[in-house]
Amino acid sequence: MIIFGTRGVKSTIKEGNFICPQCATTRPYKHKKVTRFFTLYFIPVIPLGRIGDYVECQSCKGTFVERVLDYNPNQQNNEFQSVYEQAMRHSMVLIMLADGEIDESEMEMVQKIINKFGHNDMSMEELEAYVEEVQANSEPIDTYLKEVAPSLNEHGKEMIIKCALAVAAADGHVDPSELQLISEMAKAMEMSTSHLKGIINEIVEQKPSFSNN
Ligand SMILES: [Zn+2]
Repeated sequence: MIIFGTRGVKSTIKEGNFICPQCATTRPYKHKKVTRFFTLYFIPVIPLGRIGDYVECQSCKGTFVERVLDYNPNQQNNEFQSVYEQAMRHSMVLIMLADGEIDESEMEMVQKIINKFGHNDMSMEELEAYVEEVQANSEPIDTYLKEVAPSLNEHGKEMIIKCALAVAAADGHVDPSELQLISEMAKAMEMSTSHLKGIINEIVEQKPSFSNN
């Protein structure tokens, strides 16, 4: 049997120092590109083209768009929020919208998670406006994650899964249907099953931190 497929492969094209918007100070960075490869027996053999690139802070592990290298801390600009932080918000809103309705307690939980895991706090008004924006051009979560995955490193992918698990666990238990959705999210981001299991185990052990505090 011949096993073949495709996979994104990362490589560093440049490194140096930049002002990280998340660390708010000068940090070393790596500029990485992601190339889609045709794989044979899981070994990348034929490059199929560049699918994305990002700048990664070597301190906080946040990933950013390339223009962040020209970031001026005196001009506050949300566009330089890390990719995972944007993706984590977007994914949680898509999860919340998945059942077709949003209640207040869900909104409160999502806001709490954003402010716990993120570097930029969000007010309830900002979250409401954001939900409307996502609703206006909604797409399935796996489609969305496939698009952003090339701009995420392992840290960013883990953060998204952790936040999704936190939303799922918000009502006190994680449903098999929620776990199914989370494993589809991991698959869309090309995360391995063992990596996903590791994150789930870690979260389950620390679960008290997700209860009402
Ligand atoms: Zn940083």
